[in-house]
Amino acid sequence: MIEIPESATYARQINETLIGKTITSVLAASSPHKFAWYYGDPADYAHRLEACEFISARGFGMFVEITLSNAILLFSDGVNLRLHPTAGPVPKKHQLLLGLDDGTHLSASLSMYGGIYCWDKGEAFDNPYYKIALEKPSPLTDAFSEAYFKEILAPEDVQKLSLKGALATEQRIPGLGNGCLQDILWQAKLHPKQKTHALSDQQMQDLFTSLKTTLAKMADMGGRSTEKDLFGEPGGYPVVMCAGNKDQPCPRCGTPIRKESYMGGSIYTCPTCQALE
Ligand SMILES: [Zn+2]
Repeated sequence: MIEIPESATYARQINETLIGKTITSVLAASSPHKFAWYYGDPADYAHRLEACEFISARGFGMFVEITLSNAILLFSDGVNLRLHPTAGPVPKKHQLLLGLDDGTHLSASLSMYGGIYCWDKGEAFDNPYYKIALEKPSPLTDAFSEAYFKEILAPEDVQKLSLKGALATEQRIPGLGNGCLQDILWQAKLHPKQKTHALSDQQMQDLFTSLKTTLAKMADMGGRSTEKDLFGEPGGYPVVMCAGNKDQPCPRCGTPIRKESYMGGSIYTCPTCQALE
């Protein structure tokens, strides 16, 4: 899934490899997918996208946005973007396949669900998640300060939530999902089920520091090792708290890593480092 480090990585890689290239062929919605969301009719995408040139890309929250000469192309969290070199195979199933003027292809395919949105430049795109992700400061920027972080957690209804509920739901921090959260909490020695109101001042500061440094590290290293980048390579940040490390020793204390189901997803913790108080 695309979270903050992956949207930043995709955008950087697109900016490094695709700018100035032109779209010469478009195949949209050729593999039926129940949970593929398109903006407008995908049958119009060829008309909208053909002959468009790549101008720039940016990542924010769970979105990757590509500005083309005449259109905007936006992908949301469940989309896998891949660049296929001339000789490389193009996947059989895809929800969008763009042929480029240098013989390469850019494909977008979905794992479980995802959004592919295309609209003409200048047209307003009315989507609440997109607006929120654009408006709220990214943890990768200085605007996301300790004061701002405390403001997010201050409301009474948020104080009642667990840390997972407070940090990774309701778009309070767009693009911070359950995936990135696990290592952030492990670094801060806090349990996802810990109630927000029970945090000491020191724990609050540790949590803020971990959130900023862990996400920055993940983005700087090209995303998480559990996700793939534009070239199909795993990200360079080695995720500690993930499915692959279940029952493996915690790198800090050696206690086996525990997996539990919580709030509609899996959480991974070290029972020693992240003891629930
Ligand atoms: Zn531990």
